[in-house]
Amino acid sequence: MAKKTIKDINVKGKKVLIRVDFNVPLKNGEISDENRIVEALPTIKYVLSQGGRAIVFSHLGRVKDEADKAKNSLEIVAKRLSEHLNQKVVFVPVTRGKALEDAINALKNGEVLMFENTRFEDIDGNKESKNNPELGQYWASLGDVFVNDAFGTAHRAAASNVGIAANIKETVAGFLLEKEINFIGGTLENPQRPFVAILGGAKVSDKIEVIKNLLKIADTVLIGGGMAFTFFKAQGLEIGKSLLEADKVDLAKELLELAKGKIILGDDVITGKAFDPETEKNVRSIYAIPSDELGLDIGPRTIAEFESYIAKAKTVVWNGPLGVFEFAKFAEGTRSIAQAIVEVKNQATTIIGGGDSAAAVIQFGLAEGFTHISTGGGASLEYLEGKVLPGIECVDNK
Ligand code: ADP
Ligand code: MG
Repeated sequence: MAKKTIKDINVKGKKVLIRVDFNVPLKNGEISDENRIVEALPTIKYVLSQGGRAIVFSHLGRVKDEADKAKNSLEIVAKRLSEHLNQKVVFVPVTRGKALEDAINALKNGEVLMFENTRFEDIDGNKESKNNPELGQYWASLGDVFVNDAFGTAHRAAASNVGIAANIKETVAGFLLEKEINFIGGTLENPQRPFVAILGGAKVSDKIEVIKNLLKIADTVLIGGGMAFTFFKAQGLEIGKSLLEADKVDLAKELLELAKGKIILGDDVITGKAFDPETEKNVRSIYAIPSDELGLDIGPRTIAEFESYIAKAKTVVWNGPLGVFEFAKFAEGTRSIAQAIVEVKNQATTIIGGGDSAAAVIQFGLAEGFTHISTGGGASLEYLEGKVLPGIECVDNK
């Protein structure tokens, strides 16, 4: 279903509520990575350039008591936003009340205001996180239109997304949310084929629904990483000390049956004697994994086999590293597959969903070579599972 975006509405002279994801990492009270601020700029700048009055808000961290409040104020983020916009950002250190209302009413066209961390409302009964109806209604009353641009929280119904949308005339997607809807939503709805899905990461249990959903849609599902070993076990192979989820072996058998040959696991792995960056590495056939070793990466024959599928793909969706890429010795599988995907960029739509997979690609310096790297960890996972995300659902249809 096509969703309305800020391009579909007129914001001139309007009080525009903009829900962004400014949940930036903080170290010793400083912003250690400002990417989320930078990513939100196009939407905010667009609203300002159109003569809208921008009321920007976000959650930051978890807020359970007064001490959390002190640690998670958005004031420094407002300051950084002001530097990026090269204009004043009025920061209001509360989440409701007369001071906030007065400041909003004093805004002129093209001006920006930010109010305090939406999760300050969680101290009193999780009002924000549990989508308290009164809170959503209150925030909605502060604006004329609502722009949701926070994909990272789209999988949770909060007062600051769904709650506002339920109480305001118009809700539209910002540019970031629009990108996620087009690339993840659009690709899953209507993929160019062949569609190759690549799944890795630590645990099968984290990815069951993703595997099931992608088995329905993709032509081939390549599986590596720690989760592959539960599948090898399901095929009756000995996996030594590799990561195993014993209670998921039956499920892995079922998935293999359901897949009717669509799941490709490869046939060699790189092992070590310990989960240690310095451990000696060996290439092993999956039919001969020594009992005192554990698999930490996919092997060279598996890389080549995976590459042959990727080379023909028109769509690639990747979630989960193929090995323990945090250890340089065991990063080769993940790096090679990332490189293979970059090489098909001109013929294929290539998408990464998943926090660690995105981190791996950024670490390799290959991020530019992908069509889309999703910004939401949990949200992109649930989107890949085929779930309806409340933060997207609440946006008006075209
Ligand atoms: P994502 O965040 O991209 O969804 P996950 O969180 O599912 O990915 O998994 C990432 C983790 O999986 C990484 O920290 C990586 O070290 C780990 N991993 C990958 N392969 C293995 C393996 N063979 N054994 C143990 N852990 C692995
Ligand atoms: Mg992860």
